[in-house]
Amino acid sequence: MSTIVSKFGGSSVADAAQIRKVAQIITADPMRRLVVVSAPGKRSSADEKITDTLIACHALAAAGKDFRTRFAVIRERYSGLATELGIGSDLVPVLDEVEESIATGASRDAVVSRGEYLGAHMIARFLGFQFLDAAELIRFSDETTIDKDATDRSCRERIDPAGRYVIPGFYGAHGDGRIQLFTRGGSDISGALVARAVGAARYENWTDVSGLLSADPRIVESPGPIREVSYHELRELAYLGANVFHDEAVAPVAEADIPINIRNTNEPDHPGTMILARDRLSERRPGERTGVAGKEGFSGVVIQRSMINKIMNLTGQIESVLLEAGVRMHHCAQGADSVLVVAESGALDTAGAPLLDSLKGRFGASTVKRTGPYALVGAAGEELAVNPRVLGTVMMELAKKKLAVHFVCSGYSESSFIVAVDEDKYREAVRAIYAATA
Ligand code: ADP
Ligand code: ASP
Ligand code: MG
Repeated sequence: MSTIVSKFGGSSVADAAQIRKVAQIITADPMRRLVVVSAPGKRSSADEKITDTLIACHALAAAGKDFRTRFAVIRERYSGLATELGIGSDLVPVLDEVEESIATGASRDAVVSRGEYLGAHMIARFLGFQFLDAAELIRFSDETTIDKDATDRSCRERIDPAGRYVIPGFYGAHGDGRIQLFTRGGSDISGALVARAVGAARYENWTDVSGLLSADPRIVESPGPIREVSYHELRELAYLGANVFHDEAVAPVAEADIPINIRNTNEPDHPGTMILARDRLSERRPGERTGVAGKEGFSGVVIQRSMINKIMNLTGQIESVLLEAGVRMHHCAQGADSVLVVAESGALDTAGAPLLDSLKGRFGASTVKRTGPYALVGAAGEELAVNPRVLGTVMMELAKKKLAVHFVCSGYSESSFIVAVDEDKYREAVRAIYAATA
């Protein structure tokens, strides 16, 4: 029996009116039998996501402080939703169970996952679907690795092909039952894993924009819509920072050749963006382009030593020093007498001066210093590959706007490039690169 997996993000389940839209979407197509939900998100820019309130509750409880006042906000929000949706007091025992678990020292991951857990219980009742706990479906082999085979097996065992289920996103469990979260925005991954396990006909990702756009609409005014892209292009864009879809959510469905459809809960008739294998894409129309995206929060580490380029396996050696300090290398550019490493500022702050000293000692460097902070901004799309002049145009546009470029990584065969600019020039750089790649 063909199934569509439909994942709804935080804004799609933020209030009762949104949840009614979800119900309309689900009932419009009987193939939509597996629903994956995020925790309720913000209702306005001043609001707080349930996930963030739970993070705060856990931090308070862990510090031995009163968390119940903060938890009351969560209780009120779900109780209000339950009343408006007419599902009575069904959620009260689940809310009690969650409050008790925080009081008795549940782990951070267990606490933070409860936003999705409560939301899925609520939406299951409202739709008349069965609640199915992600802890029974999604299996981790360590903190960051999903055991895809075990996940496929448990999904197939527990999901009746004729059944209708609501599954909480954002978490799974280890073999011993311990709850494990994905990184933020991870409900996209949950949906992808379930879609893959059941061999879904389509993985729908319902959000608050009508598909993938060619830039972040909060930065570029009215960015062009994208009708279709390949899995590879979506992954590149998500990696660059287009956070409408989690970059780790592409692989599970791409491997199983399941189309992804990014859609808008507030505009359900819009076809959104289809993401397909490259050979299934229709011809790109003139002027159609993929996108520009970026991320803030990076810094450089410059290591200077005469003839550093002669050191064998230099990048590998630097990487292992960084990893020992808990820092992941994102990029590395080598010259004759110096190397620039780009990594997340937060991780470099935590590692601090001891990391710089270790690098200095390991390579006998004359200086090792922090640079930045930077934002990484880039573009991705097959059309870049057929236009080798595009990087020159981008550089000219950035120079015209007096935006300094500290690092460039260009892989034309990969049809993408990334530049590092000053972090406070992030938005300007996105707009400049968008204009230059149009
Ligand atoms: P959800 O809660 O539904 O998972 P997200 O907030 O994770 O939603 O993602 C949707 C948001 O992503 C949009 O509201 C938009 O502001 C932002 N966004 C950033 N880059 C893009 C892009 N290239 N295309 C579409 N949306 C983007
Ligand atoms: N609720 C989680 C978050 O805010 C997961 C998700 O929305 O996908 O990051
Ligand atoms: Mg999201």
